[in-house]
Amino acid sequence: MSDTPVFKRVLLKLSGEGLMGKKQFGLDTEYVDQIASEVIKVHKLGTEICLVIGGGNIFRGISDAAAGIDRTSADHMGMMATVMNALAMQSSLERLGVQTRVQSAIPMQSVCEPYIRRRAIRHMEKGRIVIFAAGTGNPFFTTDTAAALRAVEMSCDAILKGTQVDGVYSADPKKDPEAKRYDTLTYKDVLTNDLKVMDAAAITLARENDLPIVVFSMHKPDSFADVVNQQGLFTVIKD
Ligand code: UDP
Repeated sequence: MSDTPVFKRVLLKLSGEGLMGKKQFGLDTEYVDQIASEVIKVHKLGTEICLVIGGGNIFRGISDAAAGIDRTSADHMGMMATVMNALAMQSSLERLGVQTRVQSAIPMQSVCEPYIRRRAIRHMEKGRIVIFAAGTGNPFFTTDTAAALRAVEMSCDAILKGTQVDGVYSADPKKDPEAKRYDTLTYKDVLTNDLKVMDAAAITLARENDLPIVVFSMHKPDSFADVVNQQGLFTVIKD
């Protein structure tokens, strides 16, 4: 592993399901600790880090659980779920000795900071990890779009999307043994082939701002640090 990380500042996007561990729902705090320790390995390399965590392990605005609830209210509930995940990750990271700040797109002043772009950048410059909660703050969006938006606003070198598998495949590799893994893709490849990486709004925002998206598995030890050093398996999406 080289001493100089390739990326100076990255945004790590994790889905809420990535915090469930072996559970069917909610959070596995041991697993959150494991992820936090992977994040800290990268922080120690000198890379500035911000995080966007989804909420799908608790609530999704378009899930069965939301049936009958007005979509805007359901999406507000989904955004609250991302705040819960952000607080859990903050607690793990701080227990492991790193300073953090949670900034929410929906102001919750007694719980965390409101989202303030310049303040978030300053936190990272001071060595704090910033966790962006409540998505974009708007219904009808996803945390993938929030990740692309915040990564552009923070002038990140890349979005690193930690998933269950080590890159983007032509089909679900857990269901189709013939599925092909890609090393590189263009934004257009993802959009025209409807590859399930991030939603189209997120891909388009990344494309318009030349922001590379790197998809890798969060499950392997050191995989986040490896990706930051351009080692191991991953798929890069760029033009
Ligand atoms: N959400 C929203 N606006 C946003 C981000 C998220 O309304 O900008 C809501 C939406 O209901 C979504 C839920 O929050 O279903 C959880 O986010 P997401 O589904 O992106 O989480 P993930 O799949 O990454 O766990």
